[in-house]
Amino acid sequence: MSRLILLTNDDGLWAPGLQVLREEAAHFGRVVAVAPDRNRSAVSSALSLHTILRLHDLGEDRWTSDGTPVDCVHLGIHQVLDRKPDWVLSGINHGFNLGEDVFYSGTVGAAFEGMLQGSRAAAFSLHPKGDLEAIRPWIRRFLERWESMPLPEGRIWSLNFPKGTPTAFRLTSQDNRKYHDLVERRMDPRGTPYYWIGGDLAPTFQKAPGSDANAVFRGEIAVTPLRLDLGCPEILSKGEAFEATFNLEPK
Ligand code: MN
Repeated sequence: MSRLILLTNDDGLWAPGLQVLREEAAHFGRVVAVAPDRNRSAVSSALSLHTILRLHDLGEDRWTSDGTPVDCVHLGIHQVLDRKPDWVLSGINHGFNLGEDVFYSGTVGAAFEGMLQGSRAAAFSLHPKGDLEAIRPWIRRFLERWESMPLPEGRIWSLNFPKGTPTAFRLTSQDNRKYHDLVERRMDPRGTPYYWIGGDLAPTFQKAPGSDANAVFRGEIAVTPLRLDLGCPEILSKGEAFEATFNLEPK
């Protein structure tokens, strides 16, 4: 049985990265793209609960919606496809999703949703000046082999591709990064201030050994397994002390 592959992104259906991922994924099964009709970057896992959604069939297994990437995953699985997809692929995003970026990323949000809906899921992101043609063979190699590298339940793969031709795959952790001058204040022509988030788009990375940022800035592909469970087992082990502190009799 040929695989059924749902493809989405957060840059919009017409983004060049989606097209490259679609062509490479097509070697492994039937690819159905359901993606936003415009750029919906940095909407994370947003779900439209209070607005209606439209869905347009563009033919040749290409669909677009005015919803978020996660809306597109829901529409794809529950309206477009007649069975659960084997794979949900998201990207290739225009720009990295390193370290804390994964919390904001619509690309990563869509992959998490694919996982929550029961499919094998991965997010793909590329250096903003990256070369889509140079990473094609590496995408294909990853897709050829990722089924033989199973993840425990509740996990996804997040891949970040370097600028230029990659030199290797590297299994990585999440780095830490800082954005600078995040909110910029400007004046409109009528003298009223407006604000622009993401003023300086050059964050500083720690580039800790073994991290995603460390790998991509050395020209390697950072492959980061991610999970949604943000719990803190090291704190849960202190339950007795916590309860002794908070369960005192009220005075
Ligand atoms: Mn994006």
